[in-house]
Amino acid sequence: MTEPQQYLNQYECPECQNLWDDVWDSACDDDCGECGLRHISPYESTDLPCEASRSATG
Ligand SMILES: [Zn+2]
Repeated sequence: MTEPQQYLNQYECPECQNLWDDVWDSACDDDCGECGLRHISPYESTDLPCEASRSATG
């Protein structure tokens, strides 16, 4: 089995200008943790190298 490709998605809330990032297996929408606005698309999505996910276990 191969490791799933992961993406670092960066979001900015259009309501309260809250900035955050999250790691997903695709460039999917997220919800604002500050004001609760939903379905915010990432303004930036960066693919992560596979090695990054391996260091967590062990
Ligand atoms: Zn917000």
